Amino acid sequence: MTKRAYNFNAGPAALPLEVLQRAQEQFVDFNGIGMSIMEISHRSKEYEQVNDETQELVKELLGLPEGYKVLFLQGGASTQFTMVPMNLLGEGKTGCYVMTGTWAEKAYKEAKMLGSATIAASSREEGLLNMPSLAGLSLPENAAYLHLTSNETIAGTEFTEFPDTGSVPLIGDMSSDIMSRQFDASRFSLIYAGAQKNLGPSGVTLVIVKEDLLKDAPKTIPTMFRYSTYTENNSLYNTPPVYSVYMMNLVLQWVRDHGGLAEMEKLNRVKTDLIYQTIDTSGGFYQGLAETDSRSRMNITFKLQDEELEKAFIREAEKNGFVGLKGHRSVGHLRASTYNAVPYESCKALAEFMAEFQRTNG
Ligand SMILES: *Cc1c(COP(=O)(O)O)cnc(C)c1O
Repeated sequence: MTKRAYNFNAGPAALPLEVLQRAQEQFVDFNGIGMSIMEISHRSKEYEQVNDETQELVKELLGLPEGYKVLFLQGGASTQFTMVPMNLLGEGKTGCYVMTGTWAEKAYKEAKMLGSATIAASSREEGLLNMPSLAGLSLPENAAYLHLTSNETIAGTEFTEFPDTGSVPLIGDMSSDIMSRQFDASRFSLIYAGAQKNLGPSGVTLVIVKEDLLKDAPKTIPTMFRYSTYTENNSLYNTPPVYSVYMMNLVLQWVRDHGGLAEMEKLNRVKTDLIYQTIDTSGGFYQGLAETDSRSRMNITFKLQDEELEKAFIREAEKNGFVGLKGHRSVGHLRASTYNAVPYESCKALAEFMAEFQRTNG
């Protein structure tokens, strides 16, 4: 078998080996039709089955109640920063945002551009290194929605609980932690996630939306930016990114066959504990960036005493088969992204490598 890297890339990121192998088997001939899934109409019964089955898998894994639609859109999660206020921020209303880092900031800026937006809770004073408490949050009377980022991919912080916002719709950017753990999806009116972290390759954005949320959307929204265009056409209004959806289908099957979100959560805990413990028992040689109670189970951010040592760490890690450990350019330092598809063995190898690096450089 080919040697696989210890892949800690932040996104696009690791995919399960079994998924890649399955895709390889079906690449030239999808289910005996003599063509690849990329070579047939998105209106064919074969593709429609992929489309419908993927929607069902999302509903099943998240335990969604009736009333939600599952959509496969293009333009990345970044386009959702715009589509959310376009569709949901009506006249006289305010979009409420939880300010937790780079991604939340981008979402907030788009809303500001289109209408009135406010910051309802923030971790700016803590240097965006924790998640603010949202318990007992009071929202303005004219709140259109509350938007939060469940996992800040760059700083490595993650919400452990989600608020009950009552009649105010809750919206979640879950690009980097969807399907990584159990949560009550019915608290959300809309969830979106770019696929390239935890769901598959880039090119498709998963949107889960409660249908009754869309009834007041302005009629002037351009067709391709209107959620109802997709909800009314089974997410097949125009040509969808068929190969990306197909890959997401395989990834979701893999999640289901490996015990669903409960097992993903357990395994992600075990995997990340290995690395966090290495950081915490290093006597300060390694330092975690995020505050302990907001630590992400998807993106572990940490640093060493100085930049030179961090460079040496990256060099040495690369020599040993580790990929993607450099921090995001905006914060620097180091980051290990440990999405669902990153195997336990990679995390164990990284923890061991970190201990060895400390032994030789400490
Ligand atoms: C990566 C990421 C995005 C941006 O996704 P694109 O698909 O590249 O637009 C948005 N939000 C979060 C939390 C992310 O991790």
